[in-house]
Amino acid sequence: MASEITPLIAGNWKMNGLSAQLAEFQLLGEKLATLKDRRAMVAICPPATLLAAMSEKGAVNGIATGGQDCHASPSGAHTGDISALMLKDAGAQFAIVGHSERRADHGETDAQVREKAQAAIAAGLTPIICVGETRAEREAGQADSVVATQLAGSVPDAAAANEVVIAYEPVWAIGTGLTPTNADIAQMHDGIRKLLVERFGGRGETIRILYGGSLKPANAKEILAVENVNGGLVGGASLLANDFFAIISAA
Ligand code: PGA
Repeated sequence: MASEITPLIAGNWKMNGLSAQLAEFQLLGEKLATLKDRRAMVAICPPATLLAAMSEKGAVNGIATGGQDCHASPSGAHTGDISALMLKDAGAQFAIVGHSERRADHGETDAQVREKAQAAIAAGLTPIICVGETRAEREAGQADSVVATQLAGSVPDAAAANEVVIAYEPVWAIGTGLTPTNADIAQMHDGIRKLLVERFGGRGETIRILYGGSLKPANAKEILAVENVNGGLVGGASLLANDFFAIISAA
């Protein structure tokens, strides 16, 4: 992990968590308070229903919060959607955009993801822009080109280093217990870094590139130590304070 970049460990609760789950979040805060040399910045992206309550508690516990998606428009007739301004208003600092589950379930395109990322930046949020290949694409030798295309299409031009985070999440590793080899992670993250520097010059050197997909206590230390891995986006293992704390401690 490049030492000048403060790692970010972000939890993605997905469509999990009722208000009772805030006790787990509280426990995480208590555990973090005991961690003397915490290197990582920590965030949780809960379902929107928990965002305001979590942001309030998180402000006390030093845990940032984020949304899991946002609409490209600041307001309007979009039943069931949530705007970046609403996330910001509820205390969020981040917004995940372009997660593979949104790309698959809602047919989100790179162009739409880019608009969402732009809306997040305009609202004062940091978008966590997700990219990653499917198993079939990896087996066909297309992983690099798929990710390069997603990156080119999903990251806004105006992206400043402190305004976006990239999350590389191979779709086949999400929720499956499977992970790429460290060599494959290194190769992909190096490739992403190269593309960011080509596009954004020096600023591209400082954009965080998170790894996501079956990150857990047992593999966190080695994966988070890979060059150009600047933290992680954690799904299942972020739901339990003990597991998430172990990952944060490994960063
Ligand atoms: P997982 O999910 O850690 O449960 O594999 C990661 C993600 O989808 O962000």
